[in-house]
This record gives sequence, structure tokens and C-alpha cells, in this order.
Amino acid sequence: MKEMVNLLWVENLKKHFKTSYGIVKAVDGIDFTIKSGEIFGLVGESGSGKSTAGHVIVGIYTPTVGRILFKDQDISVPAIKRPKRLKREIQMVFQDPASSLNPKKTIKDIVGLPLKVHGLVNSKEELEEKAAKALEMVELPPEELMYRHPADLGGGEKQAVSIARAISTNPSFVILDEPTSALDVSIQAKIIKALMKIQKDLNLSYLFITHDLSLMRNVASMVAIMYLGKIYEQAPTGMFFYNPLHPYTKMLLSSIPVLTDEENKMKPKKVAPKGEIPSAVNIPPGCRFHTRCPFTMDICKVKEPNFVMVEPGHHVACHLYNQK
Ligand code: SF4
Repeated sequence: MKEMVNLLWVENLKKHFKTSYGIVKAVDGIDFTIKSGEIFGLVGESGSGKSTAGHVIVGIYTPTVGRILFKDQDISVPAIKRPKRLKREIQMVFQDPASSLNPKKTIKDIVGLPLKVHGLVNSKEELEEKAAKALEMVELPPEELMYRHPADLGGGEKQAVSIARAISTNPSFVILDEPTSALDVSIQAKIIKALMKIQKDLNLSYLFITHDLSLMRNVASMVAIMYLGKIYEQAPTGMFFYNPLHPYTKMLLSSIPVLTDEENKMKPKKVAPKGEIPSAVNIPPGCRFHTRCPFTMDICKVKEPNFVMVEPGHHVACHLYNQK
């Protein structure tokens, strides 16, 4: 078994946007590391900041504050300013394959573009060969699809092409931004299966951004929960589902369906939330979850809880646990 070493460090990462309504604190101070070969699940409702975090890490946005290190190199800059080798190693699969594929290009050109950009091919034949190999890895038949256009494909095939494009450069780290949420349920399992096989075959690390906790139970090795720009609980997957601590985590877990008696035993008692997720322009003081938490105490309304370790590898930010 290969040793897992740290690949990505995210330190006090913030991404704020100025809007006509005020400052949107989409990501507001998150820290985590991802090891080589690890699947790290970043989970949250819409508006939690999870996709913005992925977009900052891949270099679409520059951090407002904080650092991102990849293989010990600082990449807290837009992708265009990053060393070429590191750009090749970090790829992303977007939520909506229909809008992330150029409709005017053939599948061969779409999958082959990163190979050209990164100077990984010397001839048309080599480009064709490598694009075909990437398509085969996502179980698409190159001979049938290479000269077709995205409009000729179904949703699942389009997302498989996006994945082929992401892995064509032989990356070590892929950000998956809700890769199945725009697909029919019948196709989702096929795409997840392909992603898991590729991860294993290439020993890839994934940052898997999703709202689907059930999926993370089955695929992730580490799970973190984001709420209004902050991570409020993080633990190795077994610990996370066996011993969830944060009221928000319990709220999310208590509302997902389970299939087995074992999962039912682990499911927390129903935690009924109050209201909706507040706006990221108008973040509540103290604990950001206090406007919805059934256990709110006076301190929660004024003091932001620290993110503390409550057992090895298990961190939580809540005044109910060990706050000094
Ligand atoms: Fe609830 Fe207070 Fe914990 Fe926030 S800090 S989750 S309001 S108990």
C-alpha cells in the first residue's frame, strides 16, 4: 500500500466578493489538508461556499486572504500565474457538462485541448491516441464519439467527456464540483463508478464537492461540513457517520434516507432546524448556525466557536464541545 502524504494544504482561506448588496463572504476562513490518493468530501447546502472554495483552489478566483499550497508550492494566485507543471496536475470537473463543453468543437478537440495547452503531444496522431485513451478510461467508445459534437451526446456521456478531459493530462488532483447533480438518477451511479475506478487506477486525490452526504458515506475517506463560509465539522468518514457531533451535521444526517439496519442505528435522532440558511451578506454574529440551531445558548449569539479537536482526527466548532 502506498504511503499517503499531504498533497494540498488550505490555510485560513477566504474569498469575499463586493456586490451592490454588500460584501459576500462566500468562503470565510477554512483550513484543511488533502493527502495523495485521498477522497475528501466537502459537503454543504447551496450557499455554504463549497463550490467557491473549489474555484479558488483550481485558480478561477484569487484568495482574498489565506494560502493554498500544492506539493509544498504556494499556488495562492490565479491559474494563469501558476507554474505550468502544477496547472497540469490540478484539474476540475464542473457541475453542468452542457455548459462546460464547447458546442462547436468535436469530442477529440475537447479532450485533446489540455494535451495541446500543456505541450503533452507532438503530433496529431499522438493527440488522437491520448484523447482516445482518456475516453476509454471513462468507458466511452472513441471510434464512435471522437468526431461527434457535445449536442450529439446524452447528459451522462457529456459528463464522461468532461472527466476524460480532466484526466487527459495525467493529473494528481481533481476537484469534482457536484459532478452528478445535473444528471438523471439512472446515470449518476455509472459516473460515480467510473470516477472511483479512475481514482484507484491513477491513485488520484479528489476534492469531492457535494450536498449528498449519503454518497460521501460510500466514497470519501474524510468528510467536512461547510456552513456559511466556514467548516463546522470534519472527521474521517467512519467517525463522521458513527459519531457526528455538530448540531448542523446531525440535522443533515437525520434527514437522509438509510438502507441498512446498521446505518439506521447510526442515524442521529431528528434534529429539527429553524428557518433557512441566512444570506452570506448578512452573516449572524457568534456561531453562524445559531439562528437555526435547536440548542442555542447565550454564548452562541456573541462568540464564534473555535474549531477544536475532540478526538484524534475529529474537529468541531460548537460551544457544546470543549471550548476554552
Ligand atoms: Fe448550536 Fe451553539 Fe453549537 Fe452553534 S455553537 S451549533 S448555536 S450549540
